[in-house]
Amino acid sequence: MSDQSRIDIQNVTKTFGGINAVSEVDLSIEGGAYCCMIGPSGCGKTTLLRMIAGHETPTSGTISIGGQDVTSLKTGSRGTALMFQNYALFPHLTITDNVAFSLKVRGQSADARREAAREMLDRVQLLHLANRVPSELSGGQQQRVALARALITNPKVLLLDEPLSALDEFLRLRMRVELKRLQSDLGITFVHVTHTQPEAIALADQVVVMDHGVIEQAASPREIYNKPHSPYVARFMGGQNVLGGTVERVSDNTAIALSPDGTRYDLPDANDVKPGDKVRFSVRRDRISLADKAQDASNSAFGQVTNIEYQGTFVKVSLDTGQREEFIAYVDDEEYFAAPKEVGQKVYATWKPHLNHLLRGTNDSAGMPHE
Ligand code: ATP
Repeated sequence: MSDQSRIDIQNVTKTFGGINAVSEVDLSIEGGAYCCMIGPSGCGKTTLLRMIAGHETPTSGTISIGGQDVTSLKTGSRGTALMFQNYALFPHLTITDNVAFSLKVRGQSADARREAAREMLDRVQLLHLANRVPSELSGGQQQRVALARALITNPKVLLLDEPLSALDEFLRLRMRVELKRLQSDLGITFVHVTHTQPEAIALADQVVVMDHGVIEQAASPREIYNKPHSPYVARFMGGQNVLGGTVERVSDNTAIALSPDGTRYDLPDANDVKPGDKVRFSVRRDRISLADKAQDASNSAFGQVTNIEYQGTFVKVSLDTGQREEFIAYVDDEEYFAAPKEVGQKVYATWKPHLNHLLRGTNDSAGMPHE
């Protein structure tokens, strides 16, 4: 299945009333991959999904599935199925008939489509409810009916628009596991639009982070999280502090940058910057130690504790360092309670220099919705 379900998006733009909802997007999704698209409200992720599904036509550019240009093919003939956010089930039809519906449209006999629907309901563990109508099901069960209905046409690509957003936290986590299992059993490509960072990180083989109609970064979850491309990706995906400085010198692939307050930072893998460049870099919040005294003036931040939040496995400590953004440390709970802090106390946040990650992209926004 893998080559047949590969998606190639080339130079795709979609304009609504003179405004680009999606701008010159290039993206390849491996066949059989789980791809999550994420970004603030209005960034164009649903429009991109709908263009893959054939519910919108690109203003320019091409979309191929399995090597075939499907840009102008109808929704039913490009091998995709779209699962809608609100499930869009027919209220008066039984679960079986809801699932079988698209086979009826395709002209299959009543017996054949009932049989196929029952098989699909079995796959999503709902066979025992086959004769109920949607109002007699829970939200999670309705969601599984919608999944079965999308999958019955045997698509090469399943497109999911915020599939878990209507579920409560407990069900959402359970369905997340089920979606991943289903995708790996079926071996087809899933493209899943979400607002939720942990959902994207947990599910995806490939995370696509969008902003203002463009792709800011498309990579594995680990790479997105550890090596964000820009300040925007670092902030939007969370878990990072974004700092800045001016490069003083570069030697042995390491740039030495000075922050406005004169702190020195060693930035590894930095052969592409030169003295005088203004740079941004990130450091993970969970890689920070807090000390009452300065051990080494470099690769550190000094500030006043403004907030302390116990999070179970770690403690979130916020510092005012005099910069625009608060500096945040996630301190392991055992380490924290060995030397607890107080609001108002001045502390040094320190970390190992190899943890500094240079941000090459210029998008410095905070990742707010674009309404
Ligand atoms: P959300 O997470 O809120 O669903 P999104 O990232 O999926 O947002 P899109 O729905 O793709 O964003 O919308 C991208 C932009 O295109 C928005 O500015 C939106 O208002 C605009 N847009 C989308 N569909 C249409 C349409 N049919 N007509 C006019 N403008 C549209």
